[in-house]
Amino acid sequence: DIQEKTLQICVVGSGPAGFYTAQHLLKHPQAHVDIYEKQPVPFGLVRFGVAPDHPEVKNVINTFTQTAHSGRCAFWGNVEVGRDVTVPELREAYHAVVLSYGAEDHRALEIPGEELPGVCSARAFVGWYNGLPENRELEPDLSGDTAVILGQGNVALDVARILLTPPEHLERTDITKAALGVLRQSRVKTVWLVGRRGPLQVAFTIKELREMIQLPGARPILDPADFLGLQDKIKEVPRPRKRLTELLLRTATEKPGPEEAARRASASRAWGLRFFRSPQQVLPSPDGRRAAGVRLAVTRLEGVGEATRAVPTGDMEDLPCGLVLSSVGYKSRPVDPSVPFDSKLGVIPNVEGRVMDVPGLYCSGWVKRGPTGVIATTMTDSFLTGQMLLQDLKAGLLPSGPRPGYAAIQALLSSRGVRPVSFSDWEKLDAEEVARGQGTGKPREKLVDPQEMLRLLGH
Ligand code: FAD
Repeated sequence: DIQEKTLQICVVGSGPAGFYTAQHLLKHPQAHVDIYEKQPVPFGLVRFGVAPDHPEVKNVINTFTQTAHSGRCAFWGNVEVGRDVTVPELREAYHAVVLSYGAEDHRALEIPGEELPGVCSARAFVGWYNGLPENRELEPDLSGDTAVILGQGNVALDVARILLTPPEHLERTDITKAALGVLRQSRVKTVWLVGRRGPLQVAFTIKELREMIQLPGARPILDPADFLGLQDKIKEVPRPRKRLTELLLRTATEKPGPEEAARRASASRAWGLRFFRSPQQVLPSPDGRRAAGVRLAVTRLEGVGEATRAVPTGDMEDLPCGLVLSSVGYKSRPVDPSVPFDSKLGVIPNVEGRVMDVPGLYCSGWVKRGPTGVIATTMTDSFLTGQMLLQDLKAGLLPSGPRPGYAAIQALLSSRGVRPVSFSDWEKLDAEEVARGQGTGKPREKLVDPQEMLRLLGH
C-alpha cells in the first residue's frame, strides 16, 4: 500500500538549500517532499538576492521548477514556520524535517549613529531593488553625491554596481519599476567600499571585480600605496586569490592604455576601495537628523594568513557621505524554541546536517553553514544533508509506521486561517509578472505586494 510506505519529509524554506535538498531526497522512490515557504513565491535569494543584471545566475530556477513538477513534491508558500505552524507540529506529521530557512537578518555594525536616517543595511537595499515585500517601501535617499559601503564582499560589490550602473543598462532586467525610478533620479557619483583589512583579504571574487573595473561610465580609485610590497606576497597565496590580487594590483598601479585612459577620463562616476579602515561611528548632520559621514579608525595588519587581524593605529579619518550601507554579513534567526540555536555563530548546531540532539531533524544551506558561499556551495552542502537523512532512514533511525504529512498540516493551517500558495498558483503569478514586463522589454515586472498576489489568485 503506497500510503503505508510513503516516506513523508518536509523542507522549510524554498531557496537553493530547500530545493537542492528536496531534489536529493526525491531519489528515494518512496519519498514525498513538501516544501514550506513563508513568502508567497519560491526560490529565496535567487529571486530576492541575486542581482538583476546577473540573469544567468537565475537559471537554477529551471532545475528547481523541474523538482517542483515531480508528482512526489509539493510547494506550500505563504506559510511561515514558527508562526503559522510549529516545528514540533511538523515533526509529528512527517518522518523527517529539514530546516533550510537561510539567514534573514543582517549583522549590525554596533557603532553609534547606526540608527540615523541615511544608514541602511545592504540586505534591505538589495531586498528593495529585488522586490522583497518587506523592503518595497525603503526608498533610499540617493540625493547626496557620495555613498559609503561598509564591507568588501560580493554583496558590497553588487550594491556598488547597481548604484553606479547607468539606469538605461538596467531597463531590461527584472529590477523593480520603483527602484529603477529612484536610481534614475540618483545623484550618487562616488561609491567607497570600506574594509578593515587590506587588498589580500577582500571577500569578493574576480568576476565581480572585473565587472566593476569595466563598468560603463565609472572609473576605479585605488591608492597605489595600499599595494606596496604586495607583488612579493602574492607568490605564496592560493591561485584564485592570486589572480584576484593581480587584477587589483594591475588596476591600481599600471598606467592604462590610451583607450582605457580616455574612458576613465570621461567617466562621470567613480568607485574606490578604502583599505585598513574600521568604522567607529556614523557622523550626524549638523541638525542631528541624518547621517553625514562615517568616522573610520585607521588600522594595520597583525599576524599572517587567515589569522591576519586589523588593529587600530590610533589615527582617525572622517569620510563624508549622504548614504551609509552596511554590508558586513547576514545572520540566521532562531525559528522555534524547540530547535537548538547557536546565537553566537548564528547557525543551527549540527553534524553534517543532523541537528544536534534532535533525531529526525536536519538542516541545510546558510542556516547550517553560516551565510557564506555561492549557490554551488549550497548545492553540495544540501545534497550532503539529503544523503545523511537517507542513511539514517536505512539504519532505521527514523520513526517507523505511516505519517500523515500534508494532510495533517493542511487541517492545522486551515483552522488558523492560513491559505497556502501552491506551485501552480506560483506559475500563475509568474505568468502575470512576465506579461507585465513584456510591454517594457523586461523579463518580468515583479509583483511586490503579497496582498495583490493573493488577490490575483482569488485567495
Ligand atoms: P535562502 O536563499 O535565503 O532561502 C531561504 C528561504 O527560506 C527563503 O525563501 C525564506 O523566505 C525562507 N524562510 C525563511 N524563514 C522561513 C520560515 N520561518 N518559514 C518558512 N520559510 C522561511 N550566489 C551565487 O552563486 N551567485 C550570485 O550571484 C549570488 N548573489 C547573491 C547576492 C546576495 C545579495 C546574497 C545575499 C547572496 C547571493 N548569493 C549568490 C548566495 C546565494 O544566494 C546563497 O548561497 C543561497 O541563496 C543560500 O541558500 P539558502 O537556501 O540557504 O537560503
